[in-house]
Order: sequence, then C-alpha cells, then structure tokens
Amino acid sequence: MRVHIDQDKCCGAGHCVLAAPEVFDQRDEDGIVVLLDAEPPAELHQAVREAAGVCPAAAIRLELV
Ligand code: SF4
Repeated sequence: MRVHIDQDKCCGAGHCVLAAPEVFDQRDEDGIVVLLDAEPPAELHQAVREAAGVCPAAAIRLELV
C-alpha cells in the first residue's frame, strides 16, 4: 500500500490522525496533514483505510501496490 495526501484539499480536521497516528500527523501552524509513512506496514493498513474513509476532504488516496 502506498499513501498519497493532497495538502491543498486538507481542511485540517484531524480525523486521519485519530485513526492512524503512526501514519498521519498535523502541522503545528495550521493543522494541515503531514504524511509520516508513505508505505505503512500491513498491520496498519486497516487503520489507514479508516483514515481515508473518514477524511471529509477526500485528501487521502490509497494506492495498492
Ligand atoms: S482527515 Fe483529511 S482533512 Fe482532516 S486532517 Fe486528515 S487529511 Fe486533512
């Protein structure tokens, strides 16, 4: 799995960080998402899928590799 984020779409809601804090963080200044791990290990895939599902801005795209 490869994770892509679109910081221009992100509205800083932070749902992704709650769902998968190992993979997503937020910038201190404005809360915009920061990707910590673009290729997370298998045990995190479910959490990453949840994060993408709850993102209100559809700023998270998952690529299955
Ligand atoms: S859930 Fe979506 S909109 Fe909210 S911080 Fe994460 S990427 Fe940004």
